[in-house]
Amino acid sequence: MPRRSSPAPAGRDPFGELGAKRALPPGLLRRFRDRVLVMTTDRCFKRCPHCTRAFILGRAPVVDTPERLAACVDFVRRHREVRDVLLSGGDVLTLSDREVMRFVNAFAALDQVEVVRICTRAPVDAPERVTARLARLLGRSKKVWANIHVNTAAEARKAAPAAARLVEAGVPVSSQTVLLKGVNDTPAKMLALLRALSAARIRPYYVFQCDPVAGVSERFAVPLARAREIEEWCAARIGGLALPRFVADVPGASRKVPIERL
Ligand code: SF4
Repeated sequence: MPRRSSPAPAGRDPFGELGAKRALPPGLLRRFRDRVLVMTTDRCFKRCPHCTRAFILGRAPVVDTPERLAACVDFVRRHREVRDVLLSGGDVLTLSDREVMRFVNAFAALDQVEVVRICTRAPVDAPERVTARLARLLGRSKKVWANIHVNTAAEARKAAPAAARLVEAGVPVSSQTVLLKGVNDTPAKMLALLRALSAARIRPYYVFQCDPVAGVSERFAVPLARAREIEEWCAARIGGLALPRFVADVPGASRKVPIERL
């Protein structure tokens, strides 16, 4: 799932995901010490017009064999500082329940892993995919969190029933949003989104600057000054529980960078 606006020049693979991944097994990405991202698939429910991973999808390897999954699990087992495993792609919920749970159970079985994150737009683009059965299966693991990509208040309201199934099954639900020109780049639209997320029991987590990806950032990136203005305006009108962190993914940075530091 996507991100930010400046200062790096736009490229098609700003985070080097297609580069030879050195000691990493195929389909595993690692940019931060305590987290890894598993490319479970290159499919999504719909192609988002602002997708900054479009160039990557279909080119980067995915974990589509038992051998590749075993290699990823073995890597995490040998790197005990990894405590958070993101199941992403693409969208992991385009896979069957059985395949999803194969990923979840494989990583959740490792003692050191505290969180297995389902990164998805299913509650927005295919809410029927989040069945009560799937929610129960995810909740049973006790380690699964769901992180939903939601960009507008209308999308948050659409996601609400699926989010409710997850919450009621014991799966914490949070959101990530991309700040997009012409979509959610006014204070009023952002505040409406944050309120709709809270009403749906989806904890607003991050608002990302659009990633510096050629062909996308020119169309959708919001200037930093405007992003700061939106953040300030919302912070003055909504409680901390509903206020996400406004950040950018900066190539080479050791963390997500708060926009006030850019
Ligand atoms: S869900 Fe994420 S990866 Fe898939 S098309 Fe949308 S932005 Fe791209």
